[in-house]
Amino acid sequence: ENTKLNSKRNYFKDLERNTKLLPHTWIVVRIDGKGFHKFSDKHNFTKPNDIRSINLMNCAAQKVMAEYPDIIFSYGQSDEYTFVTERYSRMLDRNSNKIMSTIVSLFAATYVYNWNKVFKGTSLKYCPAFDARVVLYPNISSLRDYLSWRQADCHINNMYNLCFWMLVQKRDLSHQEAEERLCGTFSNDKRALLLSEFQCEYDEEEAIYRKGTILHRKNPEECVESLSLSRNETLYSFRGNEESSLLGNLKCASDIITVHVDMINDTFWSERPWILG
Ligand code: ATP
Ligand code: ATP
Ligand code: MG
Ligand code: MG
Ligand code: MG
Ligand code: MG
Repeated sequence: ENTKLNSKRNYFKDLERNTKLLPHTWIVVRIDGKGFHKFSDKHNFTKPNDIRSINLMNCAAQKVMAEYPDIIFSYGQSDEYTFVTERYSRMLDRNSNKIMSTIVSLFAATYVYNWNKVFKGTSLKYCPAFDARVVLYPNISSLRDYLSWRQADCHINNMYNLCFWMLVQKRDLSHQEAEERLCGTFSNDKRALLLSEFQCEYDEEEAIYRKGTILHRKNPEECVESLSLSRNETLYSFRGNEESSLLGNLKCASDIITVHVDMINDTFWSERPWILG
């Protein structure tokens, strides 16, 4: 009876065990709010950008990074967040299903957990869901291309939404009229529209809206110096050894830095060489 159960167990475990991600590649998980167009509407989000939801998203992402030290970098905008693990990470055995589902469920739970603190008067009408996907990036250039794509998307959408809601809120245009007014316009046309019609200089808008939110770890060498540990110890643990408790302890919540800057240019990365190694 026991052996029968055991062979069944092995059989089912086998079926589950086919999702191990290729080693030595960056694991990228992107989550995105399900139907947030409607969700933001039902909860009276300020348009184009409700800072409360952005704060909630950022707080949920910080929680994920605090819980999983192998996540070295995150990028958030609108209802989405990208998480990047260290290249040699052995997080959750590199099991793709586990990595994706653990990140997205912790994120969603934290978003909901903190809702009342952030949205005060507005009660949560229904629970939001987030989808998740995982992609491997084998080198720095493809990973940077991916991140640049997300930040460019943030820029394009934010500029469009800013114009759209100015036309709706300040010129009383209907949604359809505003859409038609913006149809076929390029970035420069939108800048000109904002400036001439609304005296709004696009580049003076808050960086958190224009650039999104980047979360990354402090330079580990600075952390080590402050704990007066040797450089060798850091390098050893950085390579993803199983006994990597050292860096695990170092990479805590207080090591997370938040910035809202351009990461498409080389400067961001050359100033922070430790992020992608
Ligand atoms: P899907 O389920 O396919 O992702 P969606 O409705 O979530 O559909 P997205 O393309 O993900 O569509 O866009 C998210 C939408 O959520 C934005 O277009 C915007 O209307 C709204 N939204 C998200 N965050 C905010 C915010 N902080 N302030 C205002 N609106 C927001
Ligand atoms: P892992 O992260 O690997 O899943 P785990 O601690 O969640 O670790 P599981 O094998 O999933 O381990 O077992 C879940 C454990 O949670 C159970 O062994 C039990 O101790 C506890 N647990 C779950 N549900 C209940 C419950 N309803 N009442 C009491 N204990 C529970
Ligand atoms: Mg989507
Ligand atoms: Mg969405
Ligand atoms: Mg989205
Ligand atoms: Mg279990």
